[in-house]
Amino acid sequence: MIQTHPCKFCKKPVTLSIDDDHAVLADPFGLLRLAACDRCSDYESARRQVVRNVKRICELLIQRAVAKDDIEKARESLETLVKKYMRLYAEYNNLALADYEPQLVDALMGKPTHFGQVLCRIPSLFAQRALI
Ligand SMILES: [Zn+2]
Repeated sequence: MIQTHPCKFCKKPVTLSIDDDHAVLADPFGLLRLAACDRCSDYESARRQVVRNVKRICELLIQRAVAKDDIEKARESLETLVKKYMRLYAEYNNLALADYEPQLVDALMGKPTHFGQVLCRIPSLFAQRALI
């Protein structure tokens, strides 16, 4: 069964080939709401990988499982991940790369339990830049 449905992220049409066995056994239209184009699904999986890696480091910081000598390595890893997140965001949204702000990593190091809120600030770096 071939179906066309808008990508759940960018709304561009995505053509899906749903296996006939699935169409018989389950609700094939349930799959349609999950439809994503290659560009969006590549971005989302790369972005989620970065978030998972940030979360892993933050969990170690929360558990105080990072030796004092490795604190600087944790900071460098978080900096690399934040920059990667910024690059992914810029490429996906076709924006010029915003300036890296070390305060983001300071915030992650200072309040690792708030890692999600800190990462949510990244799009605003680009929004601020667009206003200038
Ligand atoms: Zn898309």
